[in-house]
Amino acid sequence: MQLCRFNEGRLGIVQGGQVKDVTEALDVLPAYRYPLPCFDPLIANLKEVVARATELLPAAKTLALEEVSLLAPVASPGKIIAAPVNYLKHLAEAREDAEIHHRNQVGEIQRVGVFLKATSSLVGQSEGVALKHLNRRNDHEAEVVVVIGKKGRDIPAARAYEYVAGYCVGLDMTTRGPEERSFRKSIDTYSVLGPWLTTADAVSSPGELGFRLTVNGELRQQANTRDLVLGIPELIEMASSFYTLHPGDLIYTGTPEGVGPVHPGDVIDVSVDGLGGMRVQVRAA
Ligand code: MN
Repeated sequence: MQLCRFNEGRLGIVQGGQVKDVTEALDVLPAYRYPLPCFDPLIANLKEVVARATELLPAAKTLALEEVSLLAPVASPGKIIAAPVNYLKHLAEAREDAEIHHRNQVGEIQRVGVFLKATSSLVGQSEGVALKHLNRRNDHEAEVVVVIGKKGRDIPAARAYEYVAGYCVGLDMTTRGPEERSFRKSIDTYSVLGPWLTTADAVSSPGELGFRLTVNGELRQQANTRDLVLGIPELIEMASSFYTLHPGDLIYTGTPEGVGPVHPGDVIDVSVDGLGGMRVQVRAA
């Protein structure tokens, strides 16, 4: 199933270029009170929501995809985890290009681990990217994103897929510079997630997903998750060996070679086989 959030926080099922409005399915969510949990309520109750949405589907109002504004499919992740240089060819390009590495050591992911992005940086495709620090390079990074489905820690790679709720297309936008990654990648709108959540049961081979990114129609990045240095199970094992993963936690799995600058007015198209594509407008903040 492909579940989207759209317009003013409505819930939809995406089918054949259309959105079926199943917002009423959100009524199955428990009412949380302060202090709020550090997980995403929709993902934590995904089974119940999907069951109710399926009941509502036959009578649901239909909208064309083009007429809705798509929001981030996960509204309230507890954390956004991201993998640095997780494709070998991107490691090589980052080490060669001073505009990318800024004299930061670019190490192998096995040695440097994963990093966190501020959850306040998260947007859906309809919100677009608002560039800050226009005097610096602001790069696109196309990534496949894993959405964690259940709580776990010290998860062995062999069991990692049991903890996955689904997958999304992601943009890990990056201001280049000498500062820590998490600082440069946590600017508002610098984590784009979309276009919808494809549930894990609908993705047969997450380790073999082709994806590509264009800027104003020009192909910049093209890769396949089979070329990840640390694959999805290994990333889940690494992250959960340091902190507990919760439903709705996002893992941006890393970007391949071809990263490059974008400017106000540019249009980024990024798509992943089976997960859909999103069009993201770039503007100045
Ligand atoms: Mn990245």
